[in-house]
Amino acid sequence: MNETGNSTGIPIPAWAERVADSLGAGPHVVVSGISVSGNIHAGNLREVLVAEAVANALRALGEEVRFIFHADTIDPLRKIAPDIPESYEEYIGHSLSQVPDPEGCHVSYSEHFLAPFEEALREMEMVVEVIRSHELYEQGAYTEVTRESIEHTDELREILQEVTNRKMPEHWSPFLPRATSGKLTGMRILEHLPEQASVVFADEDGFEEAASYAKGEGKLGWRVELAARWKALGVTFEPFGKDHTSRGGSTDTADRMSREVFHYPVPGRFEYEWIGLKGRGDMSSSRGIVLLPLDLLKIMPPDAVRRIILGRDPARRFDIDLEAGFPRFMDEYRAETGESYVPFTHLVTVAQTVGEDSDAAAEMLHRGGYGEVAEDTDKLARDLSYARKWAAEWAPDSMRLGLLGPGESREAAAGLDEEQRAYLREISEKLRPEMDGEAVQDVLYTTAIGRGLKPKRAFAAVYKVLLGKTSGPKAGPFIAGLTPGQVTQRFSV
Ligand SMILES: [Zn+2]
Repeated sequence: MNETGNSTGIPIPAWAERVADSLGAGPHVVVSGISVSGNIHAGNLREVLVAEAVANALRALGEEVRFIFHADTIDPLRKIAPDIPESYEEYIGHSLSQVPDPEGCHVSYSEHFLAPFEEALREMEMVVEVIRSHELYEQGAYTEVTRESIEHTDELREILQEVTNRKMPEHWSPFLPRATSGKLTGMRILEHLPEQASVVFADEDGFEEAASYAKGEGKLGWRVELAARWKALGVTFEPFGKDHTSRGGSTDTADRMSREVFHYPVPGRFEYEWIGLKGRGDMSSSRGIVLLPLDLLKIMPPDAVRRIILGRDPARRFDIDLEAGFPRFMDEYRAETGESYVPFTHLVTVAQTVGEDSDAAAEMLHRGGYGEVAEDTDKLARDLSYARKWAAEWAPDSMRLGLLGPGESREAAAGLDEEQRAYLREISEKLRPEMDGEAVQDVLYTTAIGRGLKPKRAFAAVYKVLLGKTSGPKAGPFIAGLTPGQVTQRFSV
């Protein structure tokens, strides 16, 4: 595949260009590896997007790039994620690809969590190979590095002990064979048969078994696997989160193993910081603050997801704001694309007023002065869907609204005094279908002044009969968007 960054149409951030420049001539293999032990949340997406940006920057330089998403499906289940039945205790130590789906909808535990993430990557049109690690082992991609690892068991153990400052068990092995029970943990290697690519080991109960590492009957321990993977796949770049790059962390051990044992140059690296959700904290599957990439794609287009997740500099931590600050983010994003756009708050008003009816929405936008934008009906339908879903999920109460039905409106009007009702009647007579938002706003204001009614009480009456609230979106453009019938019906009180 020889795509350039330009052909993907995705903007390449300056930091990614700098990283790509520093990597030198290829061919390049860019990898992002993620465990599938639970929900793959929007925080995890940051790593994949960092890798994608660098891959695109390399492509733009004319380099040949293979971009891999390495899903760690062969990893053992270590702990029970929230919402997983406790009976899953029996699967601890089993490969995620061999544990049943807790909800029964996919072939395995790992597929259950990987499938929605893969769907999000597809929706984002990412040029990436999604690879399941259990398949790599079964296909023999790790055979050579596993043999090498077992042969250098003592050196690998020494590096682990020195870097982590922890004593490794007597029978430590870089390779975890899978027992008949399905477990990968707690085995003791007795003999290595390099010509047969297999080991003889004692299982938890002391019985002798054999496992072939050319057929995926086991895996490398994760710290060794990280370095081994660089060599097995020819990795030249991989981003890491701070949980890996801290002192004594997995990159410290992998760097030494790569140089000293596998004699493979350490790939280029980018250390990204985590993201949080404003008002809710760091995203983490184990603490239940989970925002899925598909949730983001419901309320904004793929490139906006890239922008909000990467931020200005992914080496810095920040909280994404999907609540009060989101409309501003969307307007900045739209402004940067250079196309004309409807302010997001107005879209939200329109979407909540007309529901699924995109013809009515187009008409409302036309009346509000956004006729040009309403012409692309497919785009309008998408934008309305984003706005409607955002309003339902994330909007502050002040932005949630629904046009009252005629009956509800009459009930609301009963709570107004005669001055306010007379004001509404006068407005109803003055409004003309051809007026735009500013003209309506002007009528609302000057009529109130003319009648000696305080504007605050006047506008409260308007919102009351339209929305059942005392405040709302800017009244002029909102009313201009309604049909004359809708307005007369509610203002003739
Ligand atoms: Zn499932």
